[in-house]
Amino acid sequence: MSKTICRFLSQTTGAASYGLIKDGTVFPVPPTQIFDAAPAPVWSVEGLALSDVKLLAPVTPSKIVCVGRNYREHAAELGNPMPDAPLLFLKPPSAVVGHGDAIELPSVSSRVEHEGELGVVIGRRARFISDSENPLDYALGYTCVNDVTARDLQRQDVQFTRAKSFDTFCPVGPYIVSGLDPLDLQVETRVNGETRQRGRTAALAFPVAYLIRYISHIMTLEPGDVISTGTPAGVGPLSDGDVCEVEVENVGTLRNTVRARK
Ligand code: ZN
Repeated sequence: MSKTICRFLSQTTGAASYGLIKDGTVFPVPPTQIFDAAPAPVWSVEGLALSDVKLLAPVTPSKIVCVGRNYREHAAELGNPMPDAPLLFLKPPSAVVGHGDAIELPSVSSRVEHEGELGVVIGRRARFISDSENPLDYALGYTCVNDVTARDLQRQDVQFTRAKSFDTFCPVGPYIVSGLDPLDLQVETRVNGETRQRGRTAALAFPVAYLIRYISHIMTLEPGDVISTGTPAGVGPLSDGDVCEVEVENVGTLRNTVRARK
């Protein structure tokens, strides 16, 4: 059964809580009901109107594992060959922001770009997933990620770390949707309403199940960790005042404003 999971800030207590969304209402639930095989949620708890809560990034990951050049057309647009194995890099948890938060442009970069991507949220600890297991069983669900990148700094440095890791460079959300098949979902990025990127996960060189198993043989994936699966062609610049949206089919739309860092 599909569930829509969020994290939000309670206006009354000021505390962050997980919630399940049903028909525009948020029902608070303890984290153990999100990450453990839990009984069906109790809908009798008092719900809050979705429009009344401040959504937070739906996870607090220990790491965000990103995949570079996983769509052929995107590798080509940056003049890069396709890798023989998944090209992995990390974004720090400190870069994560939620739906509605601002992406801040650092003054040291003159070219910050959007990368709309399908995000996989890990639901239970994964280490050395065997060939007989289904890696998708380790996914709690799917979300939208904007792998914001200072392209000029990426070209300048050998490592991706500086270009990918500024605070606010990892919007995630608005929700996690479980029970989806990630094999063929549309991923679209819009800036000020204009479509910049549109691709389907069916075009991923290394699909979601492959990535989860592959990464689990390198590092332990913890509940709440995020795998960002790569971006389709059409990456482009973000400017002060822009509104950037990443929409993943059947998941939702992650919307962020862009502003120059003061
Ligand atoms: Zn990316």
